[in-house]
Amino acid sequence: MSRSAVVWDPALLAYKLGDDHPFNPVRLDLTIRLATALGVLDDVPLVVPEPVEVDQLYRAHAAEYVEAVRQAPMAGWDVGHGLGTPDNPVFTDMHEASSLVVGSTLVGARCIAEGKAARAVNIAGGLHHAMHGRASGFCVYNDCAVAISWLLDHGFDRIAYVDTDVHHGDGVQAAFYGDPRVLTVSLHQHPFTLFPGTGYSAEIGVADGEGYAVNVPLPPATQDAGWLRAFHAVVPSVLEAFRPQILVTQCGVDSHEEDPLADLSLTVDGHRTIYRTLRGLADTYADGRWLAVGGGGYQLIRVVPRSWTHLLATVLDRDVAPTTALPRNWTEHVLALAPKAEIPARMTDDAEGGEPEVSRWGDGMDDAVDIAIRDTRRAVFPLHGLDPHDPRD
Ligand SMILES: [Zn+2]
Repeated sequence: MSRSAVVWDPALLAYKLGDDHPFNPVRLDLTIRLATALGVLDDVPLVVPEPVEVDQLYRAHAAEYVEAVRQAPMAGWDVGHGLGTPDNPVFTDMHEASSLVVGSTLVGARCIAEGKAARAVNIAGGLHHAMHGRASGFCVYNDCAVAISWLLDHGFDRIAYVDTDVHHGDGVQAAFYGDPRVLTVSLHQHPFTLFPGTGYSAEIGVADGEGYAVNVPLPPATQDAGWLRAFHAVVPSVLEAFRPQILVTQCGVDSHEEDPLADLSLTVDGHRTIYRTLRGLADTYADGRWLAVGGGGYQLIRVVPRSWTHLLATVLDRDVAPTTALPRNWTEHVLALAPKAEIPARMTDDAEGGEPEVSRWGDGMDDAVDIAIRDTRRAVFPLHGLDPHDPRD
């Protein structure tokens, strides 16, 4: 059994919202090319996805909405359901391309559930904003919600979803908001300042699901150290209390300081540290089972390919040293596409190639990040038998 499954097919590049739309699949192509050029994918058999049948989509979406997506390219105007907007334009074969994205995350989940792999990664997935009855935030079908629902029907009843995209993972949270079998955790830029305007610390779930939605809204300009401080102050404790059977992570990289759509200030080194931390948490708390998907990320050349190459490498236990130079055949390919691109030289944003510094919560610093940490811990920790004021929890 190969320990890790990598899901990929160039057919996934068909999820294309338009030439001028920020969600450009070239980022996926450049990531696979970079990972290949660095040898990360050497001898790794790629798992080729298939589009899901509509009954799988009904796990997360209304039949009426799925039908609207199918009809939209022919309908021409006023299709409703969030479709045909600047964020979610209608495109040719939208249903087919979106169903393939869902299939790509689902096949990763299947590999893990069937014991073929302990980990699976699908950089084309992570469409976390799609809602039950509408498209939202560049997302047509919610592959994360479909895969989690499928896992619930195939032997899993404690699933932890951790969302590190700069935007709140609202669609996944909404899908399981009253379900104590699914713990959703999202760290994101504060909803006052960014789409989709949700993800307050007071959003903790409803009914039996109370305490099983966890939100950490971070102030704009939060850097690696602050982001990681917040993560460590909240996530390991709730995972330890929840004891998941599998960790599902949405690994959007629009939290980078150069991302054009948002205002957090992480680096590629912060992203790499996050992935290695998630891997450790899956090993510690989820029996090693880890399903990682992509998500947002709109600095198509300088950020996404490097960060997600680190993600692929981390899932495969083939960690790439930060000081590694970008291979010449990759930079030449990029310059042929974008002659004016300023291409970074190495797999790090740090002159020294070092690890981001992290100071642990509980030292009394009490800055804006610490206020967010405190609010979140107060909102959910008592519901898990944890002490919001004790830094050991
Ligand atoms: Zn995002």
